[in-house]
Amino acid sequence: MTLAKVDVHTHLGKHGTHVHAPLATDELRAWGKVSWDVEPESLFDAARSAETSIVLAFDAEPVGVVVSNEYVAETIEGHDHLIGFASVNPNRPNAPQILANAVEKLGLRGLKLGPTYQHFHAHDKAALDLLEVANHYRLPVLWHQGTTFTSSAIAEYSRPLDLDLVARRFPDLPMWIAHFGHPWMEEAISVVRRHEHMFIDTSAMDTRPWQLAQALACAYEYRVLDRILFGTDFPFSTVERTIDGLNAAVELCTRLGIAQMTDETVQQICQRDALSLLGLKRPDALEQTAPAG
Ligand SMILES: [Zn+2]
Repeated sequence: MTLAKVDVHTHLGKHGTHVHAPLATDELRAWGKVSWDVEPESLFDAARSAETSIVLAFDAEPVGVVVSNEYVAETIEGHDHLIGFASVNPNRPNAPQILANAVEKLGLRGLKLGPTYQHFHAHDKAALDLLEVANHYRLPVLWHQGTTFTSSAIAEYSRPLDLDLVARRFPDLPMWIAHFGHPWMEEAISVVRRHEHMFIDTSAMDTRPWQLAQALACAYEYRVLDRILFGTDFPFSTVERTIDGLNAAVELCTRLGIAQMTDETVQQICQRDALSLLGLKRPDALEQTAPAG
């Protein structure tokens, strides 16, 4: 049974093949295990809880992670409920061409960036040049603009406010911030609030009920609950755990009397049509609308 319409944030990648030190060893230190160790079958199983899931490549060699565009494309091939996103480090000399190839040759449909992991600043010329390609192909962009456990990441490149310039530069390009931009949820929401093409996702927040409650209360107060996209960050969470976390956070807000939200609020997040908001279609819908010949 599907519990969510779209999960906008899932990962592939096996420990030892795609996920290495320093991130893997730092994950072990921070969490006591390396969770980023996904067999494709376990993603396919988990993705049954959502109607459609977005699966992310991740080109983050500076922290020891390379889940390639080719690997994502070949793993999800033939799965009509999965949409693949490319990832390209803007610091690669031929980054724009790599992204164009990921769209034209591999059929990937969006771009995942994580400046803190990829060691670039969102305002760098290389990043803006890469975003021109994303804009050309109308590829929605997911930004990891928030903190992380690994000291191999560059923390000063992780602030959500860095995206305001990007949002102004590309006013028609749908983009969203992962994990509510934690721990800068208010900063992230302040950016999302200013730009109608900016969104924010719920992923990997269920283990921090107080932080999630604050994020929801802030979105409520700034009247941007309708800009929240449902995401899990699988394998770090699941659809079921994310929904439980959202319900618990809403209940906490109610108990504290800080925001009037209900089960209905959570249902609206779960059933939000993120594909339409991001300008995406499922692979089976694309086939139906493809011109003959
Ligand atoms: Zn993630």
